[in-house]
Amino acid sequence: MPSLDVTSTAISRTHSPDLIPGYRLESLVGAGGMGEVHKATQLSLGRTVAVKLLSQQLAQEESFVARFQKEAAALATLRHPNIVSIVDKGSTVSTYYLVMEFVDGPSLRERMRAPQEDSQDTLRVMLQICRAIEYAHGRGVIHRDLKPENILFDEQAGDIPKVTDFGLASFLEDTSTRFALTGTHMAMGTLSYMAPEQRVDAKNADGRADIFALGLILYEMLVGELPAGSFEPPSRRKPKLDPRLDGIIANCLKQQPADRYATVSDLIRDLEPLAPHYYTTMRPAKLSRMQRVGRAVRKAVRVFMQGVAALLVLSAMGVLALAYQRTLERRVPIPPGIALTGALGPASAERFAGRLSSSDGEPRKVTLGEGPDKPSMLVSGRRLELDDKKLVFPAVEGQSRVGLMRVDLPGMKGDTARFVARVNTLRREPTFPETLRHALLQDPLPDSQVALLLLEETAQPDDPKRYVALVYGGAGVPIRLEWRLGEKRGTMLGPDSPEGPVELELAVDEEGALVALLGSKGDKRPIFEPLQLGLNWQELRFGGPPAPAFGCIEGICQAESFSYQVKPAPPKPAGVVQASAPVRAETPRPVAPTPAKRPPPKPAPAPKGKRSK
Ligand code: ADP
Repeated sequence: MPSLDVTSTAISRTHSPDLIPGYRLESLVGAGGMGEVHKATQLSLGRTVAVKLLSQQLAQEESFVARFQKEAAALATLRHPNIVSIVDKGSTVSTYYLVMEFVDGPSLRERMRAPQEDSQDTLRVMLQICRAIEYAHGRGVIHRDLKPENILFDEQAGDIPKVTDFGLASFLEDTSTRFALTGTHMAMGTLSYMAPEQRVDAKNADGRADIFALGLILYEMLVGELPAGSFEPPSRRKPKLDPRLDGIIANCLKQQPADRYATVSDLIRDLEPLAPHYYTTMRPAKLSRMQRVGRAVRKAVRVFMQGVAALLVLSAMGVLALAYQRTLERRVPIPPGIALTGALGPASAERFAGRLSSSDGEPRKVTLGEGPDKPSMLVSGRRLELDDKKLVFPAVEGQSRVGLMRVDLPGMKGDTARFVARVNTLRREPTFPETLRHALLQDPLPDSQVALLLLEETAQPDDPKRYVALVYGGAGVPIRLEWRLGEKRGTMLGPDSPEGPVELELAVDEEGALVALLGSKGDKRPIFEPLQLGLNWQELRFGGPPAPAFGCIEGICQAESFSYQVKPAPPKPAGVVQASAPVRAETPRPVAPTPAKRPPPKPAPAPKGKRSK
């Protein structure tokens, strides 16, 4: 089994590399030129999202990866009710993904297949699309692939059209990438909706190419087919249409961009008076006296009811806002290792019962919980207690959500290390605002997580600490191995955790291969592929011997039989040819992926349908 070299940044999931941490794919909803779009659940919030996966084949090609990234960048720039919003992006071991809001409804293409709506509704839709594109242009993004397939109707939200698929978008000012993508664009664009200049030379196409596509879409919505050649004006094809639409569409569809509307705002300015016209100019019918009295009473009742409703809504919003704020305060949306190694305020020195042992005059082993010695530890963020040989971060109202204890015993030098503890995490009682949010918004209660960490000792106060963290988040949540070693960061998700308490182990062998294990003696299993830290790993990866630490996020965390031990490498047997013996690097050097000395362990089977974070 291949092992992971720590010099690569990876987010992977053992055995299921294509599953996306934090999301559960539910069903395929569409496939386009770039890959597949799935309906999915964002596990942290329990909401439905759309996950777009770049096809694995295209993920091998730089230009497509760049385009995919570009789509994410374009969406991230835009926040508009008529543009699909982006939630997240990332990569799996084999491809890239982006997560968007899920638009639950048909595309404009599907809508157009059904009998046509009246032209007022068409104009309502068109104006919303135009406003989205006007906004995008204002933010420097041109879409370049507008077509009915890329407009989706959010039926849940009142049938709002939303522009999607910014896969060919370009940034007006960002010429380098725009040009770099041109070749691909020509191959991938949709010819029927492409402006003439875009067909010839995509790099010269600007916002007016989108105006051309808008004109085509409007014509097709009104008339039922695309205009061809010197086309007939829409009102001649459909005599009921307002003849002013003819000029508007002609202005969009001019062959020369310079003859078209210069901006989408100009197009909107001409379209807008046509849309609300019929609603605002209808004269009210003359009413009888009784009708007028009835109307006044109904109006008074309506105003009163609206006032009551507004008050109710305002107070509910107040309660929710309070609940939300309190919940946000308590949430840790960032990866647990980062949360645990961030600024937690001043540390207090504590001493609990334990045992220290040394060899060659150097400290080599520390256990906590019971014993004749009182090892020193530094505790920050939350209070730590010793409860019947267990280290416990209790849940205390008003304290930080994050607590960290690290053993303050510098100089635990060694070539191998073994860090073991039996850990458990328990949810705390939810606070009132959390219960309220949970009841009203189905918002999940905060997860609690407990971690064993190897932590850099030498970091400057403002520098992020280097760490490796093994995190347990309770039954059913995948165990997580997370590391930040200099610039390199990574996360591996393992099998779903059993019910706590669980025995966790981090072990580094003489060749610097770090493995994480789960279970006690008879049933101890490696849960991830080994992480190659390399020879002389303490210096190389942590800048000196790391401290063993115990971290807690939310809830109650317990650790018993906490033990950390380092050993020097056993002396090399005499007569061994140097080249084949493990080399002890004296100075830090880049690590070649060396085979782990222990037989490559088999990760525990990953059950299906697991939750990832
Ligand atoms: P491509 O860039 O590969 O052409 P698209 O972005 O056009 O992919 O998506 C393909 C299909 O997936 C769309 O036609 C649509 O049916 C569906 N789709 C795309 N985005 C969403 C979304 N946010 N919500 C729901 N369905 C979507």
